[in-house]
Amino acid sequence: MNKSIIKDVEVKVIELPLKKQWKIALYAAKTRGHAVVKIITNHGVIGYGEASPSPAFMGETADTIKLVIDKYLKPALIGLNAFDVDLIHERMNLAIYGNYAAKSTIDIALYDIMGKALGVPAYKLLGGKYRSEIELSWVVGMQDLEGSIQEAKEKLAQGYKTLKVKVGNTPQIDYNLVKGIREAVGKDVPIRLDANQGYDYKTAVEVFRRIEEFGLESIEQPVRRWDIEGMKYVKEHLKTPIMADESVSSLHDVYRIIKERAADIVNIKVGKVGGLTIAKKIADALEISGLTGTAGSNLEVGIGSAASIHFVASSKTVNMPNDLLLGGPLHEYDLIKNQFEINDGKVICSDKPGLGIEVDESIFK
Ligand SMILES: [Mg+2]
Repeated sequence: MNKSIIKDVEVKVIELPLKKQWKIALYAAKTRGHAVVKIITNHGVIGYGEASPSPAFMGETADTIKLVIDKYLKPALIGLNAFDVDLIHERMNLAIYGNYAAKSTIDIALYDIMGKALGVPAYKLLGGKYRSEIELSWVVGMQDLEGSIQEAKEKLAQGYKTLKVKVGNTPQIDYNLVKGIREAVGKDVPIRLDANQGYDYKTAVEVFRRIEEFGLESIEQPVRRWDIEGMKYVKEHLKTPIMADESVSSLHDVYRIIKERAADIVNIKVGKVGGLTIAKKIADALEISGLTGTAGSNLEVGIGSAASIHFVASSKTVNMPNDLLLGGPLHEYDLIKNQFEINDGKVICSDKPGLGIEVDESIFK
């Protein structure tokens, strides 16, 4: 029926300023590179995708995405039907190994095209709507203690119900930070920590055994991405649930986490794992293994965030608060013209066709 043949693929790299420095255990930055992709079909349907990987986290950048798409992915995609997503992933994987952020921009654009071609929102193509409202969490990046406490209080006042705090600094700085925020926000606010690989497994247990007394919802990526045994050790020596983020950067990565029972929760980022198609497969893997999920952010702005919203709206196992809308508020500008509908710390998934966003086309000029 729908002969949505891929006719052209265009990529733009845009460096956007952040409102203030963004710092985590892996890096600090004042701007963020975004790769925006535009796929056009033979019927003139246009789909958009976006990713903004940080080099230290992903091993990819907006510039590598442009090179990889222009030289390897675009030639493999021209002439294929945009609805044949598994085949398209196979062709992309044969064209070049890895580069999951680059592949995610393509995959996201396919769902935008399919939705627009059929006149349905992207979530309808991902299993349908499981939830209409998506609970958000706010991430407090590394800064001085006073600034962290101030930001935590401001975001709770804006309606966020869950805080994620970036740690992995030094044991004493982390201790003082979590103590300070807990005392400032009271005992009932869920606090999630993200160490971004900041500790080795033995130090992680020492540090978080002390901090656990403040009451934690979960601890994300306490150890290096490759140290699955170390993550399992941490999980077995702490009371708090452990979340894998960097350790699950592809579909196949989740297998070892499940097999080793190395984590309780997986942070599934659409822009990290290869797009909506792969994110859904990981969400299904969590269902068969009894794990649970959340959807994080690589600081994408509107296009990438919209994809994550459709993912969570359609995924039963992604049932924890999500920091998928972090990128927009941290940037000076966005790449879409319409605003997301946010109410009391929750974002509402759009019912418009495709991703339901209006992209600022001037970026392609
Ligand atoms: Mg993380």
